[in-house]
Amino acid sequence: MSIDLPPLREVIARYGLNASKALGQNFLFDGQLLARIAAVPGDLTDAEVLEVGPGPGGLTRALLAAGARVTAIERDHRCIPALAELGDAYPGRLRVIEGDALAIDAPALFEGRPHIVSNLPYNVGTALLIGWLSADWQPWWRSLTLMFQREVADRIVATANDDAYGRLAILSQWRSAARIAMPVHRSAFTPPPKVMSAVVHFVPTDPPVGVRLPVLERLTAAAFGQRRKMLRQSLKGVAGAGDAMEMLGIEQTRRAETVTIDEFVALARTMDRSGHGSEAR
Ligand code: SAM
Repeated sequence: MSIDLPPLREVIARYGLNASKALGQNFLFDGQLLARIAAVPGDLTDAEVLEVGPGPGGLTRALLAAGARVTAIERDHRCIPALAELGDAYPGRLRVIEGDALAIDAPALFEGRPHIVSNLPYNVGTALLIGWLSADWQPWWRSLTLMFQREVADRIVATANDDAYGRLAILSQWRSAARIAMPVHRSAFTPPPKVMSAVVHFVPTDPPVGVRLPVLERLTAAAFGQRRKMLRQSLKGVAGAGDAMEMLGIEQTRRAETVTIDEFVALARTMDRSGHGSEAR
């Protein structure tokens, strides 16, 4: 379906949408790039999509053109009339909610499981991600396709022994597959941010049996709180961790950054089984 829409720059000029730094506004205008981002989750024909921060609607256009039904949460009231105009071009396909995505109960907006696709405001991106990844599993969302600063994207997909490996990698990967779908040059944005970006794609996987997130988080917080120290030292205050390392044959002289996600998961499971996860309940 080809729909005639005014150029995004004209929409921005008409509605006075000069970019606000406080709202993390860096807009994308390149239709081909936006179509490639909208293609990352796969076929979106009639699929429900949640977009956080549509701004003037560049990515929203690409999602609608890909056949999605879009629910968009935007905090900047200046963008709402521009988005209403886009909704008129796609009757019944775009629902715009004005508000703060950190405060809105997004799962309650959907009957099925939406894909989430967003060029996130960088100042709230990690908080939103942590909320979505900490949801009950299977999560209420089907996949995540999210723009991050390249440095954050590298921390999400890092594996043991990478410099960027830490708590965010473990939270991201212990029950989902996360990959960098495409790097995005800073010059693609208006205004260009100081750093490079990347789109990361997450698909939930079956959660490991017998592991609870609070136990895993307590363990990784302690381990990476002192990432250069040996586990013997960094996990000293974590009840049951020493016994669990011994049972699993994990050398206590290792440092957190060498411990794989599977090993952290096994440690958390063993601690919980031996009754030492209860403090995290
Ligand atoms: N999607 C547009 C694009 O790709 O050109 C704009 C992306 S811009 C990086 C981030 C957008 O998120 C802005 O429109 C901003 O107003 C909006 N935003 C910032 N904080 C928000 C929040 N807490 N809840 C919802 N939207 C927010």
